[in-house]
Amino acid sequence: MPAYDFLVVGAGFYGAVFAYHATSAGKKCLVIDKRKHIGGNAFCETRSSITVHKYGPHVFHTNIEKVWKFITRFAEFNNFINSPLARNGNEIYNLPFNMNTYNKLWGVITPEEAKEKIAEQTRPYRAKTPSNLEEKALSLVGPDIYEKLIKGYTEKQWGRRCAELPPSIINRLPLRFNYDNNYFNDVHQGIPAGGYNGIFEKLLKGCELQLSADYFSIKNPESLADSIVYTGMIDEYFDYRYGALEYRTVTFVTEEIDAENFQGNAVVNYTDAETPYTRIVEHKHFAFGKQPTTVITREYPAEWEAGKEPLYPVNDAKNNGLYKRYRQLAEREKNVIFGGRLAEYRYYNMDEVIDSAMQAAEKVFSL
Ligand code: UDP
Repeated sequence: MPAYDFLVVGAGFYGAVFAYHATSAGKKCLVIDKRKHIGGNAFCETRSSITVHKYGPHVFHTNIEKVWKFITRFAEFNNFINSPLARNGNEIYNLPFNMNTYNKLWGVITPEEAKEKIAEQTRPYRAKTPSNLEEKALSLVGPDIYEKLIKGYTEKQWGRRCAELPPSIINRLPLRFNYDNNYFNDVHQGIPAGGYNGIFEKLLKGCELQLSADYFSIKNPESLADSIVYTGMIDEYFDYRYGALEYRTVTFVTEEIDAENFQGNAVVNYTDAETPYTRIVEHKHFAFGKQPTTVITREYPAEWEAGKEPLYPVNDAKNNGLYKRYRQLAEREKNVIFGGRLAEYRYYNMDEVIDSAMQAAEKVFSL
């Protein structure tokens, strides 16, 4: 008889939320992670009493009431609202694209003037259905915004030309006709007090935990537990049988600066092609910090390779096609649940991952 009901591979949101529900249902879970910490990419480190988001900025936001109710049981959230800035050369623009952005670009003042300007900008590109990100951006916002605020950033971030990227990537970038700089449209938003680690400690309480533990060096994982919840890379699980899926990674270069305030905002995107990093995150602003020094992180995106962190799936037609084939293998795998950004090869937000893990748990435990 296996010692555990569940072997959960990965202590990020999917694994931890599933493990929490399993434990609550009286099941015995072993949670392993190859990193030396829990929390997946939401993991935070403290430097000079500043909470640092180690794997990129994680601003929690959701419209899913059930998820908000669930997550707020494990932490108090502050009222941080994400309002990133875009910098091109020495020009600063507000994001998401809104009246402040249009005013700075074109001098327009009213929504009507802005709509007229955008209609004029997009007219030549609106006739056909966009088949790639460039066509979508041009048909949505026109060449001025595309050239200044989208093209450089996106090509650095994804390492591919906009004309080769799927239009869906910029579904995340809303277009507004008011002066609202809130990046998200969701009803709930904030950062957990003290960072994300406390949430994961609470979620995983009652599970057995092994860190720095690589699933692939376990000889006979099926003998350890009745079922497996796998949240790692799906192509690696199947030993790259059909070839490797592509991912993007980021090199995070973090430094402490002897100044109280470096850039006046949590996130500044560098949207030109020349600056080698995509953004600078100044962590203290997520918690309205008043510390005497500050910690900043520059993000340099790169193509993923073995030994690096796979952070973003590249959801273009080629990779999505390959993923589908792995998905078919996954469906035939008995007693294994595949979930999360890497196992589902999806550009998930945190709330969507939590929702998906809650749904899986509801199904398994008939909640
Ligand atoms: N994007 C852009 N300019 C920006 C910010 C974002 O063109 O200043 C595009 C870019 O293609 C990016 C996508 O919008 O990959 C999604 O951005 P988001 O900020 O949601 O990405 P994340 O925070 O998940 O890295």
